[in-house]
Amino acid sequence: MKATENKELNILKTVFGYNEFRHSQQDIIQRLVNGEDAVVLMPTGGGKSLCYQIPAMLRPGVGIIVSPLIALMQDQVSALLQLGVKAAFLNSTLDAATARKIEQQLGAGELDLLYVAPERLMTESFLNLLDRSPLALFAIDEAHCVSQWGHDFRPEYIQLSVLHQRYPQVPRIALTATADETTRVEIIQRLGLEHAELYVSSFDRPNICYRLSQNQGNARDALLRFILNEHETDAGIVYCLSRNKVDQTAEWLNKKGLKALPYHAGMPASERQHHQHRFLNEDNIIIVATIAFGMGIDKPDVRFVAHLNLPKSIEAYYQETGRAGRDGLPATAWMMYGLQDVITLKQMMESSAADEKHKRVERHKLDSMLGFSELTSCRRQALLKYFGDHLDQACGNCDTCLTPVETWDATVVAQKALSCVHRTGQRFGVNYLSDVLLGKDNERIKSFAHDKLGVYGIGSELNARQWRDIFRQLIARNLLTVDIQGHGGLRLTEQCRSVLRGEQALMLRKELKQEKNTARNRKQKPGINESNKYLWEALRDCRKKLSEQLDVPPYVIFHDATLMEMLQRQPQNRQQFSRISGVGEHKLEAYADEFLQVIQTHAEKEKRCLTVSDTVEETLKLFKQGMSIDDISKHRSLKLSTIYAHLAEKIEQGVLPLNEVVDIDEKKIKLIQDEILNLDEQDRAKLKPVYDALDGLFDYDLLRCVRASLVSG
Ligand code: ADP
Ligand code: ZN
Repeated sequence: MKATENKELNILKTVFGYNEFRHSQQDIIQRLVNGEDAVVLMPTGGGKSLCYQIPAMLRPGVGIIVSPLIALMQDQVSALLQLGVKAAFLNSTLDAATARKIEQQLGAGELDLLYVAPERLMTESFLNLLDRSPLALFAIDEAHCVSQWGHDFRPEYIQLSVLHQRYPQVPRIALTATADETTRVEIIQRLGLEHAELYVSSFDRPNICYRLSQNQGNARDALLRFILNEHETDAGIVYCLSRNKVDQTAEWLNKKGLKALPYHAGMPASERQHHQHRFLNEDNIIIVATIAFGMGIDKPDVRFVAHLNLPKSIEAYYQETGRAGRDGLPATAWMMYGLQDVITLKQMMESSAADEKHKRVERHKLDSMLGFSELTSCRRQALLKYFGDHLDQACGNCDTCLTPVETWDATVVAQKALSCVHRTGQRFGVNYLSDVLLGKDNERIKSFAHDKLGVYGIGSELNARQWRDIFRQLIARNLLTVDIQGHGGLRLTEQCRSVLRGEQALMLRKELKQEKNTARNRKQKPGINESNKYLWEALRDCRKKLSEQLDVPPYVIFHDATLMEMLQRQPQNRQQFSRISGVGEHKLEAYADEFLQVIQTHAEKEKRCLTVSDTVEETLKLFKQGMSIDDISKHRSLKLSTIYAHLAEKIEQGVLPLNEVVDIDEKKIKLIQDEILNLDEQDRAKLKPVYDALDGLFDYDLLRCVRASLVSG
């Protein structure tokens, strides 16, 4: 036991450059090394890959990883090659010759890991090839794809149960970041993993800050402000509901000077690929996308995910926001939603062709999402609770924790709104209803004789925007529902009765001004400040240069977290460099020298700046102690003119008065100053023209000091 424990830890350190295992990684690895099966549920960014990569390297034979995501395969393989691991992938993007070469490598036992698409794996010819190769394990990644209920269902995944029948001795591991109970049960059943040990990690993503706010008609501006204030140079994803909105938003962000690219199913595949490639390979691209984008993107340094529309379920929200901050560094999940989202989603769902059973499930999911967005308590606690997880205390890293929301007793106001819906016949939309409540003088109201109703004009304590807030919350809480015909007409629900009758008090959110929300949370990038930002840029440039040479994304060279540690520790030699998390033997060999050089160059530059200011301070100190300028020059073995230059600098800064340094009368000073001011800018910067203009009457040192006094004012 001890021996294997050391072996896997050894690989973690030497190959991956990490010091300790996370969550249950070590248990999982040991189990597989011992030839047993595992089912692993771990959040995105939790570290699932190591769970099969390390045992595949420790066991004899090749580890076969089944993955439906082509982009992800490529990414993982290039990351592994950077670590010096013998890995390859087989999928439809390879030409026949390359594919044949990899199959040969497989046959010759030259691979530790092979990633395959499920449809290729299940071909008879490939299985024949496997029959002849020693196998370390099967890893079934994105295992939720076996679930027929989920939106990522892949029919080929069902056939993967064949693997166990054909290779009963080979251990299997199924992995997913999808947390719900139904999916878990389906994975176990369909893949025949009843005997596997189940590992469930917490689904919390503590580094993601969840922030939701109400759209008050200016969502796009709010988005721009958010990006500029908090993520100006970062990579991010912006989700919109429609293709149209994707295109418009991307174009608009570009006009505002950001690098934004659209991504949706209506674009030509080549263009989509190009945009994705740029997103992965450049540092600060924003992808504006429909939900089609994101599956299989494991770019670790996505710093924000923004939603301009409400997702259909908490599962979708969690999955989409989960694409931020895989590297564990702080990231933001930002969302702005409004009444129109609520209405659109309700209508889409009610009018869908799904059968009643499906609709019931969807309705429940949407209601949960709406409830989540209207919360007044900690978002993270609610999110985790939804997935059957638990968090003891409020998180301190979500909008409701950072800027607590006030609630107010809205029972009376809600009754007015509900009565208005009732009295007007349950067929009008929010704008009309609030016009009636406000007692607006308009033809339409008159034509229905609604100005004669008791509810006409009873809502003047609120304005139109506030009434929209109220209606949104009433719909979100299922006290009102939206008509199926799609006209946006509101109807009462069963649940609203108790509120109407006054049997139940209704507490609603007091809406905040958006400004407050963002301004409060504005953060400096942690760890980067004025004094080290040049080194940070230099390290990033170095990484960028290497990534271009090798044609891999920058994060494949080193993650931001690794660069950040370099910045903080500033290693001086290879040994210190090797202690940085994320530096394994292979990367030490390949990159240490380049990065050490950058750090050294930076340190020298700093030292030079420091010496200049130090030496000036030293002169000033001696001068203040009463030492004469001549003596200082002798004492410090510096030229007289150097000492004068030091003092002139201090005069310029306003630290020393001119008359303490030079001994000439006011009139002469005035004369010199006038001469200097008579020269044009350029000539003033050099001393010779001043010297000449004054016919060499005064020496350079004196002129330097007088000129400095002009600057100090
Ligand atoms: P996912 O669970 O989403 O597949 P990954 O396997 O891609 O997550 O891991 C996310 C990131 O965390 C990767 O960059 C990985 O190298 C890093 N990581 C995984 N395990 C550890 C560990 N024990 N120590 C430090 N970093 C780790
Ligand atoms: Zn919270």
